[in-house]
Amino acid sequence: CFCQVTGTLDDCACDVETIDKFNNKDIFPKLQKLLSSDYFRFYKVNLNNPCPFWSDHSQCGLTYCAVKSCTPGEVPEGIKSSSNKYSEEPSQDVEGCDMTEKLGAVNGTLNDETRQALSEWKKHDDESDRFCMLDDEDSPQSQYVDLMLNPERFTGYKGPEAWRIWNSIYEENCFKPYSVKRPLNPLVSNSGDIDGQGFHRWLEGLCVEKRAFFRLISGLHASINVHLSARFLLEENWFEMQWGHNVSEFQARFDEELTKGEGPKRLRNLYFLYLIELRALAKVLPYFERSAFHLYTGQSEQDAENKNMLLELLQVAKTFPLHFDETTLFAGNMKEALKLKEDFKRTFKNISRIMDCVECFKCRLWGKLQTQGLGTALKILFSERQIEAMPNTRKSTPSFQLSRQEIVSLFNAFGRISTSIRELENFRSLLSDLKQ
Ligand code: FAD
Repeated sequence: CFCQVTGTLDDCACDVETIDKFNNKDIFPKLQKLLSSDYFRFYKVNLNNPCPFWSDHSQCGLTYCAVKSCTPGEVPEGIKSSSNKYSEEPSQDVEGCDMTEKLGAVNGTLNDETRQALSEWKKHDDESDRFCMLDDEDSPQSQYVDLMLNPERFTGYKGPEAWRIWNSIYEENCFKPYSVKRPLNPLVSNSGDIDGQGFHRWLEGLCVEKRAFFRLISGLHASINVHLSARFLLEENWFEMQWGHNVSEFQARFDEELTKGEGPKRLRNLYFLYLIELRALAKVLPYFERSAFHLYTGQSEQDAENKNMLLELLQVAKTFPLHFDETTLFAGNMKEALKLKEDFKRTFKNISRIMDCVECFKCRLWGKLQTQGLGTALKILFSERQIEAMPNTRKSTPSFQLSRQEIVSLFNAFGRISTSIRELENFRSLLSDLKQ
């Protein structure tokens, strides 16, 4: 059967069939409902950050790359209010030693320079936890985008520009030793593909953390390519555009024979990414369970209903029988593990900055969202102790926090991977129909 991935996944004790069943039946429908709510559909993003890596960067003029941003009236007031940054109850309800209040009180007695230094320090402190760069939400260039009106799908972005981004991510950021050249760029290699043997020797030789890192990026790449094959522009005329499954596009990217065995491996990396994000969702449940946490949009009934929906989803995520065991990562010698974790963070931050170089705005939007979402998942996985020690009181600010931007990207990124896994089932059945 074409493009079939079955059996146990490398680096984890889980099989593909268990994930398919769990995702398609228990997770996917709930997640779709949650993501259509106001809290999750409005995402604030700066699509105009300059590319920090190369200067000949241009903007593409492809029609399907356009992103429609929201007018101010379209976004609920509650989402726009600055007290909503951490989705906690508005701070006037908070008694005692809330960190931001403390800083605010001190602020009144300080000169501008010290105030600036304090705010830089606070920003640095927040940043040091993170695995990815977040956009400055206060920048006038940041805008709200309604994700439901700007779906991830085929845009026509391809060729040297797109390859340069993928190349740069894999070549420069995947801990690749310089001695192994991987002819990934189709401009460099005629076949345009990996030198199978050498590449797999390289991959197997990596420590588990670095291999995991490569697999996450490759899983993200696979998910994007599954989406563009599933929401392909099938027909375009004056009256309408028809989007749908393009089976031959999917086969060209994932069929075992056509890709010389690489396609199924890439799909397995997609499942690996799913497991990592699912694990993070299960772990972060105590953070969302606190009474102080709200999915605040200013519409109290709807907000309460959404919070219940979110908790229900996370409780289901927790019941998954074969969760990824992240304690195997960064578990060796303490000094080496710390260094490796810092390398991991730095490299992942670099990848999130590369997203500002993606010329197609629609691809940039979803690329940024998904790297932010994955970065948030990694932050959760490595904040286990802070999450467990979470106070269920409004009196103190927890040491672990997620901003609204992180929450929206985490769930929407997981939504993309969950949809890709659901789409694989659709492609399998389309392919089997074709064979009959
Ligand atoms: P590419 O997908 O560009 O891959 C280049 C090379 O990488 C391949 O030749 C292969 O050797 C290797 N490769 C491919 N897949 C994997 C994998 N999973 N793991 C490891 N190696 C791999 N296009 C859209 O239509 N819609 C989108 O929303 C969209 N979003 C994008 C977001 C980003 C951040 C980027 C960089 C690109 C995006 N694209 C999008 C473009 C799309 O991903 C492809 O680059 C484009 O369709 C050209 O495909 P290709 O067949 O030339 O191979």
